[in-house]
Amino acid sequence: EKLKTPERKSWEKVQYDKKFVLVTGGAGFVGHHVIMRLKQDNINVIGTDNFNDYYNVSLKYLRSNISGVVQHVDVCDLKKMTEIIATKKITHVIHLAAQAGVRYSLTNPQAYVKSNVECFVQLLETLKNTGIPLIYASSSSVYGKNTNIPFSEDHPVVQPASLYAATKRENELLAHVYWNLYKQRSVGLRFFTVYGPLGRPDMAYFSFAKNIFKGLPIPVFNFGKLSRDFTYIDDIVNGIIKCIDVKYDYEILNLGRGEPQSLMQFIKTIEDIAGKKAVLDFKEMVKGDVLVTYADVSKAKASIGYSPNVSLKDGLTRFISWYKLYSNQPK
Ligand code: NAD
Repeated sequence: EKLKTPERKSWEKVQYDKKFVLVTGGAGFVGHHVIMRLKQDNINVIGTDNFNDYYNVSLKYLRSNISGVVQHVDVCDLKKMTEIIATKKITHVIHLAAQAGVRYSLTNPQAYVKSNVECFVQLLETLKNTGIPLIYASSSSVYGKNTNIPFSEDHPVVQPASLYAATKRENELLAHVYWNLYKQRSVGLRFFTVYGPLGRPDMAYFSFAKNIFKGLPIPVFNFGKLSRDFTYIDDIVNGIIKCIDVKYDYEILNLGRGEPQSLMQFIKTIEDIAGKKAVLDFKEMVKGDVLVTYADVSKAKASIGYSPNVSLKDGLTRFISWYKLYSNQPK
């Protein structure tokens, strides 16, 4: 199946008199940084989150205390979502709420169907006929075990390797249905392994840093033979923000760094920055994991002027400085 050949040209700009952005998953890692950036740019913003306990809820409260604009609302709550959209006169929805994580989807498939499929349909139902464009998070995981690198948006994405990936692909398909039926505009952003301060404790970079500082072993899956296109949070946020002032019908964009790193190189970079050696615990490949992710970002560069520019060394240095402060705070 071929979605559409990506257009390597810039998208038309749109002027808004007044913007009011709703960010779902606003207490989450990416959502929090998007909110902070919108506030910095003096754009009205409100966040919603259900504060679920997939990981450390206190980190979600910490983020929402910092931003001060996140309400406790589930995306599936059609009534409350409709109310917020109407009373605030929302002009854009940035949908980042989801059940994230590939490994957790092996043991908790229902959580993914609920948040990523059912609530996504609820959101589309809330938005259809409002004229509000939708910017939503997809994932590099939709490329599955594709070995045709770098991954371009026009690659077939018919064989997701995990249940998580299948729900993210489902988002893209559902968004397409709502474009066909109701002319609901959307852009799906396929993020590639995002890392940074206030990041997710369930992700490898976070637990690696934690265990390296504590002198505990770190699990190295597939005996280190994995590569990921690690992308710094500020680059992802820039890409998301650039989608606010452009026009699209139904689109998909890769947001990655475009420079995959091997897991061993990644660990070495953390060791160098932390000034400590990691204790490696080599393990087999986990079901659902893929060997490589590598973004072709030429479409995002041409269409919205996306330009990832934070190197792995700089990004990890910023993460580690934050992590040292965070881990020393009383919890
Ligand atoms: P996150 O888990 O930190 O943030 C998601 C937030 O959504 C959480 O705070 C959670 O409480 C909230 N949430 C979940 N279900 C909800 C619901 N039904 N109603 C309201 N809130 C709900 O994850 P993140 O890393 O910030 O990811 C943001 C988005 O980007 C997700 O859609 C994720 O799948 C996608 N993504 C992330 C990465 C990455 O590397 N971080 C990579 C690819 C895609």
